Amino acid sequence: MRSRMLIEEKTSKTLRDLGAKTPDAIGELFAEVTSALDNERQSLVSEGAADDRERSQKVKDLRDRWLARKNGILSFIDGNWLKKASKGLKPAVGREFNKLRESASCMEIAELVKVVHIVASSNSVDEDKMHASLPGQQRILLQHPTRAKDPPRHALGQMTTADLTLPGNRRALGSIHPVTRVMREIEDIFLGLGFTIETGPEIETTYYNFDALNIPESHPARDDWDTLYIDPVKSGRLLRTHTSPVQIHAMEKRGAPLYIICPGKCYRPDNPDSSHATIFHQVEGLAVDTDITFADLKGTLDFFARKFFGEKIRTNFFPSFFPFTEPSGDVAISCTICDGQGCRVCKESGWLEVMGCGMVHPDVLEHGGIDPKKFSGWAFGLGVERFAMMKYGINDIQLFGQSDVRFLEQF
Ligand SMILES: [Zn+2]
Repeated sequence: MRSRMLIEEKTSKTLRDLGAKTPDAIGELFAEVTSALDNERQSLVSEGAADDRERSQKVKDLRDRWLARKNGILSFIDGNWLKKASKGLKPAVGREFNKLRESASCMEIAELVKVVHIVASSNSVDEDKMHASLPGQQRILLQHPTRAKDPPRHALGQMTTADLTLPGNRRALGSIHPVTRVMREIEDIFLGLGFTIETGPEIETTYYNFDALNIPESHPARDDWDTLYIDPVKSGRLLRTHTSPVQIHAMEKRGAPLYIICPGKCYRPDNPDSSHATIFHQVEGLAVDTDITFADLKGTLDFFARKFFGEKIRTNFFPSFFPFTEPSGDVAISCTICDGQGCRVCKESGWLEVMGCGMVHPDVLEHGGIDPKKFSGWAFGLGVERFAMMKYGINDIQLFGQSDVRFLEQF
C-alpha cells in the first residue's frame, strides 16, 4: 500500500520537484514505476478471482488505474514528467516513457488470473460437476493456499490438475517450397535415366569456379560485378557463381564413365529485378563416356523437356558460346503460351530459351583428370527458378525469397 501511495504521489509532481536532474535519476524513477506495475499485476495473478465476473472487474480496475486517459498513472507521467521536462532531459524521459507504455500495454492478463475454487476438506464437492461448470480452457483447478482454511494435505498435490481430455493445439502444416519442388522433379527425371546426384561446397576457390572450367582471368565473368569474393584478393575464395565446379570435383573423385546432375545454390551480385536474384538455384548435368556425341545430348534434353513441360513440347538447339563447352548451344522449347505461333512472351519467335548446353571442352576434361582422347562428354545447365516460373506462371523471381505465406501456401 505504501508503494502505491508513493507512485501516485510521485507522479503528481514534476521531475524538478522530485529532484531528478540526470538521465540516471530518471531511469531510477521509471524503474520504480515499472516494478510497481509488475507487482500489482503479479499480485492480481496470484490472488485469483472467485468467478468470471470478479475476474473481469479486477482486471478492468487494474487497467483503469494505470491506463485510463484521465487520471490513469500513465497520464500523470505524461503530463507531469514528460511534458514538463526540460529540453535537455526530454529525450531520456521520452525513451523511458515509451518503454513503460509498451510494458503497460500488455495488460491482457485476464487469462492468467485463475478462478479459484475452495475444495472443501470433506470432499463433498463433486469434481466432475466442477469441471462441467467451467468453460473450456479454464478447467484447471487452482487452489490458492491462503484462501482455504486448513488446506488438506493431499490438496497440495492437486494444485494444478490439467484436464487431459481437452483437444491439443493444432500446428498449421507447411508445404514444399516451389523451388525445392521443381528441383526434385528435375532430379527424378534424371535419376530415372540412370544419373546420380552430386553436390559440392558453396564456397569455392577461383580454380574450381573459373580456371578449371576454362574461364581465364581476362573473362568478363571474373569481374567484380558478377562474383561475390570472400577474400579481398580476387584470387582467393568466392561464393560459387554456378554449380559447374561440382563437375570438376566429381570427375577428379570418380573418373569416367560419369553420369551426374548437380543441383544447388549459386550466388551472383546482380541487381535484383523480376528475373535476377543474388541467390538462385541451378541444376547442371554431365555425361562422360566413350563415344558420347551431340546426338546423345539432344536426345536426352529433348526427352527431359517433354517429361517436364509436357509431351507436346518441341525443342530447338541454337549455337551459343560458353568457355567450358565446344561446341556450345542454347536449348529452346516451343512457346508454352502460343505453342510456337508467336506471341509477346516468346517475342514472336515461337521459342523460349530454357538452358545452355554443349560438348565438354577437352581442356575441362583434362582438368578433371579424364583423358579427352579416350572420353568425350556433354553438359547442360539450367536455372531452377526460371523453370518454376514457367511451370507455375510466376512473373517475379523475388517472390521465391520473400517467405510470404500467401505466396508459398499455393504450392
Ligand atoms: Zn509464344
